[in-house]
Amino acid sequence: MIFDNRGTFALIDIDNYLQNLEYINKKTNTKIMPVLKADAYGHGSKVLAKHALKEGYERFAVAFLDEAVELIKNGIKKPILVFNYFNPEMMKYIDDYSEYIIPTISSLEFLEKILYYSGKNIQKFKFHLNYNTGINRIGLNDYEIDEILRKIKEKNIKIEGIYSHFATADEDDEFIIEQFKEFKNFENYLNSKHINFSIRHISNSAASLFHPEMSLDFVRPGIATYGLQPSSKKQFKELKPVMTLISTISKINNVKKGDTIGYGRTYKTNKDINTAIIPIGYADGIFRNLSNKTFINIKGKKCEIIGNISMDQMVVNLNDLNAKTGDKVIIFGEYPTANEHAEKANTINYEITSKITKRIKRIYK
Ligand code: PLP
Repeated sequence: MIFDNRGTFALIDIDNYLQNLEYINKKTNTKIMPVLKADAYGHGSKVLAKHALKEGYERFAVAFLDEAVELIKNGIKKPILVFNYFNPEMMKYIDDYSEYIIPTISSLEFLEKILYYSGKNIQKFKFHLNYNTGINRIGLNDYEIDEILRKIKEKNIKIEGIYSHFATADEDDEFIIEQFKEFKNFENYLNSKHINFSIRHISNSAASLFHPEMSLDFVRPGIATYGLQPSSKKQFKELKPVMTLISTISKINNVKKGDTIGYGRTYKTNKDINTAIIPIGYADGIFRNLSNKTFINIKGKKCEIIGNISMDQMVVNLNDLNAKTGDKVIIFGEYPTANEHAEKANTINYEITSKITKRIKRIYK
C-alpha cells in the first residue's frame, strides 16, 4: 500500500516518456542521448533511465558528476556524459566508474587539473570536448584550443566526442545557423590536427524538432522528452506531458460576499462563493507568484487560484462546480499545462517541473 499522506503526488507516465523519445528519434532520424539532469527535470532520473535503457537508449547526459554516479549506482551502466565542471580532485575517486562517466573538457584549466589528479589513470577515461560557438558559458574558447590539443596528444587522452550548445534554438534561426557553422569549422580544425573522435552532437529539444538536419550523430533533448513544448513558436502536439501534478480537496468553504482569502487579503469576493482548499503550496514548488493568476483543473473545469498561495495550501474558486472533500484535482499536466503556469509565473516550463520539491511523491505508471 502507498502511504497516502495528503492525496498529493506527481504522476509520472512512463509510456508518454517513451513515446516522446520515439517521436524525437523518428523526427531527427538520429540517436538520442536523453538529458536527465536535475533529477530528470523533476521527474525522477533513475526510473526514467531504467525504462529508456530497456527500450534501447544507451547513452545519457547529466549536469553534474554526482548525478552520473547516482545513476550508475542504480544500475545504469552505460556512458553518461557530464556537462559541467566538477571538482578535479574527484578524478581520484571515480576510477571505478571510468567505463561509464564521460567528463567534458571545457577549459584548459580544468584539463590541467584533471591531468594532475588522475595521473596515469587519465587513460582509463573517455572525454568529450565542449566547444563554445556563441553561448559563452562553459565551453572551450578559440584561444585555449591549441594548448588543449597539444596536451591531448602529449598525454594520449581519448576524445570520444565533441559538442556545443545553442543559445537561441527556441527563438531565432539566424544565430543557430551561425553556431552550427562555427561547430563545423571546429570539427574541420580538429580533423586537420588529426584529433580522433567518433561522436558529434549539438541539438537540444528545440533544435532537434525545428532543425532535424542539424542532428549529427546524437541529439541531446531534455524538455521535449518530458512532453513539454520547447518553444512558443510552434506546438508539437505529438509531445505528451510526462508529469501530472495531482492533489485532493481537503475542505470546502462557503465564503460570504465581501470576505477575503488568505494571507495579505489579496482577494476579496464580490458574491457568496464556494472555495476548495488544496493541500499544496510554495514549499512543494508551486510558484507563489501564481497567486490570483492562474487556475487548476477540477473535474475538467477551470478553477481560479484565489488569494495568496501559502507554504502548504492554496484556495481555489469553485464557482458553480459541485465538488467535495476528497475529490482529485489536477494542478498541471494535460490541462492546464506546465506551460500555462510558466507563462503566468513569467518563467519557462523547465522551472515548473524541476522546482517540484521532494515533499511531493513521484508515482510511476
Ligand atoms: N544540452 C545541454 C548542454 C544542456 O545544458 C541542456 C539543458 O539545458 C540540454 C542539452 C537539453 O536542453 P532542452 O531541455 O532544451 O532540450
